[in-house]
Amino acid sequence: MSINLKSPVFAGNPIRSKTPKSTDPFSPTPAFETLKILISNQTHIQDSSSLTFKILPFRKGRPLARSTGDLVKKWHLGWLSFDEFKDVLEGSEVVLSEDLLVYLGYENEGDEKTQKSVVYWGVDVSLGDSLVQKFGGQQLCFVQLTTLMVATDWADEKTMGQLAIAGHARALLEWHSTSRFCGSCGEKLIPIEAGRRKQCINTSCKKRIYPRVDPVVIMLVIDKENDRVLLSKQSRFVPRMWSCLSGFIEPGESLEEAVRRETWEETGIEVGEVVYHSSQPWPVGSSSMPCQLMVGFLAYATSVDINVDKKELEDAEWHSREDVKRALTMTEYGKAQKTAASKVDQICKGVEKGQNLAADFGVESGELLTMFVPGPFAIAHHLISSWAHQV
Ligand SMILES: [Zn+2]
Repeated sequence: MSINLKSPVFAGNPIRSKTPKSTDPFSPTPAFETLKILISNQTHIQDSSSLTFKILPFRKGRPLARSTGDLVKKWHLGWLSFDEFKDVLEGSEVVLSEDLLVYLGYENEGDEKTQKSVVYWGVDVSLGDSLVQKFGGQQLCFVQLTTLMVATDWADEKTMGQLAIAGHARALLEWHSTSRFCGSCGEKLIPIEAGRRKQCINTSCKKRIYPRVDPVVIMLVIDKENDRVLLSKQSRFVPRMWSCLSGFIEPGESLEEAVRRETWEETGIEVGEVVYHSSQPWPVGSSSMPCQLMVGFLAYATSVDINVDKKELEDAEWHSREDVKRALTMTEYGKAQKTAASKVDQICKGVEKGQNLAADFGVESGELLTMFVPGPFAIAHHLISSWAHQV
């Protein structure tokens, strides 16, 4: 089975495709001014207003979500109106302040006469322990983004868009929570431009910092002559999962050099030609790296003898096209997705307490597979399947 996604998972965000002009009421600064008035005056936005706000709470990197459906379960983000959000904070540990909210983007709704702009905000409510119970009563729950990622039907464009919004929001909020102090003078950093930048409060410094993206090279190493690819196993992977090699870029290095160096360091294989394939934002890594950008390459090997660095990898092996095709055909990614969607449903309805769902797994029927590769939510899947299915 070959799955072609319109955009990689976490890309194709529908509310940030265009940057509005700074004078538009729905652009970050004017929308933030409106938000401040709402917070300070305690007034409600009139129904006739052409501007409405939707707010998505996060707790410890997990977005608020709910689930619907009888036989087929589907998750949705737990967007709240400004009034709903204000109500829910009452009596909680979280004090409503404009500094909590980060601008995520906007969308126009309705036709020319009835048009409304909806501005979307993310908010970190990690301090609000009591909110978990409050939301629980409404069958809303904070769910790990990796769980939602696995539970997403990749043919459903709307849910894919929601996943991209949640990924963008998580990356921004994690960046805020880990970038608290100025790297130059050590003073406090405060959010500016509706939370899209930060600035040092020291008037003689005023250093500005921007949301961080960490590039990672990910490569499918190909032995053209013997028609096989180099895949690796890591102890953190689920058993029998094989994937591409990957690694960080050193200062002063090109992407191609990083591909060659990482492959050599981890497996002893020499790489010659390096060809760009595609990229994918990855906002579900550790909190010290709020958003990685996976840059995918096909890398052509010029040597074949493997010498695995056991500190980095559990194992690395050449796999034939036949074996890889078989793994791609036999792994039931659709079934894994439905299992994860049911799990989200159970979590939201309070049936399932734990969230110990592996970020990547295969659901097999009948014959036990000797290997499988990551699901279509990972760039590794697309690197591997594009090679396996090439004519
Ligand atoms: Zn400073």
